[in-house]
Amino acid sequence: MQEELNSELLSVLLRWYKAYGRYLPWREGQEPYHIWVIETLLQQTRIAQAQGRIARFFERFPTLEALAEAPIEAVLAVWQGLGYYQRAHNLHRAARQLHWLGGWEAVRASPDPLKLLESLPGIGPYTARAILSFTGWRGFLPVDGNVLRVLSRLWGIASNDRALYQEKADALPSSWKKREVAYAFMDLAQLICTPRRPKCLFCPLASECKALHAGTPEAFPPRRLPREKPIRYFLLSLCENSIGVWLERRPLRGLWGGLWSLPIHEVSEQSPRKPDILHELKHFRFVGYIEVQKEPPPATKLIPWSELTSYALPAPILRLLMQEAEAHGISISVQDS
Ligand code: SF4
Repeated sequence: MQEELNSELLSVLLRWYKAYGRYLPWREGQEPYHIWVIETLLQQTRIAQAQGRIARFFERFPTLEALAEAPIEAVLAVWQGLGYYQRAHNLHRAARQLHWLGGWEAVRASPDPLKLLESLPGIGPYTARAILSFTGWRGFLPVDGNVLRVLSRLWGIASNDRALYQEKADALPSSWKKREVAYAFMDLAQLICTPRRPKCLFCPLASECKALHAGTPEAFPPRRLPREKPIRYFLLSLCENSIGVWLERRPLRGLWGGLWSLPIHEVSEQSPRKPDILHELKHFRFVGYIEVQKEPPPATKLIPWSELTSYALPAPILRLLMQEAEAHGISISVQDS
């Protein structure tokens, strides 16, 4: 498998990267904490949306210690609007564990830093390798979904199994396991080897690309059939006045863990009414119906409209409450989300 990745091909790829690679400011640094947080923030989030959030995150939590010592509420408040809140919980738990283990020095000095990183919450095979490769501490070519696409086409492998590609990437010669090479693959995937209509004419890997030579680049990797998500129905208790709205803090585990929300109760059946909230979550579709209450529900707190955005709320609840606030003549703006 490695004969396609010879040193001449590597030179062509790196020349291409030097001339056409993307400028992303965070690539300048090699600080593990920054690399880890940015890689986590960029998962399932567009770069444009994440950029403002990256700056805010580091302003609020400039170091691993600052993140480890902060309460989870503060982390969720900065995360608000990005969705996939489990990432924020894991980041916070991993920061505490790593800080307790001795911080980044413990990783660097570890005989098996990959294993150590992968043992932390939310750090999977890709992120662990990205941290080690981008800091220059160890050599890896981390395989995410985009790099997988390039490798699948280059090697002509009709599989979506990321572990398979990572195993092959781990077995590459060390000259291919450098951060510039990883960045080159990532940029190639974004700019040239796109899911649809790859621009093979401009590709530095074209001479060795099996999928191109077979005349079917788009057939690699094979398409996965989208899985139908289950639908779940919820009632949301809304009690409000001209000052604010009564919200509860969700339990730390489960749906929107640790966030502030209208009280939610799952019901087994669809209501004949038109839903007030339709929202795609990772594992199911959320269908919500508002039930207006005259009395504040138990265990709730009155949050003034003007302070709503200081609390971490799930995006669809915040959107709904912004409309309610507007009905009371109060306009709320949300920063960069
Ligand atoms: S030649 Fe085409 S299909 Fe092959 S790696 Fe380059 S852009 Fe992708």
